[in-house]
Amino acid sequence: MKCPYCNEEMELGYLQSSHSMFWSDKKHKHMFRPNTKNGEIAIPIDLWGSYVETYLCRKCNVMISPLNK
Ligand SMILES: [Zn+2]
Repeated sequence: MKCPYCNEEMELGYLQSSHSMFWSDKKHKHMFRPNTKNGEIAIPIDLWGSYVETYLCRKCNVMISPLNK
């Protein structure tokens, strides 16, 4: 994948955690579970934790995580 900012090739790796992760349009302060009815997106989790393939551009300090992989 090419970086949308500098157009150089990005490094493929994983954004990962031993706990569950989710995307939200706001910071949660208490309940760290996604509310999918409000459009929050859960990152898949299994026995080894949660992870999503993520492309990194070190030059631009940008990560991109396609959610359909
Ligand atoms: Zn870049």
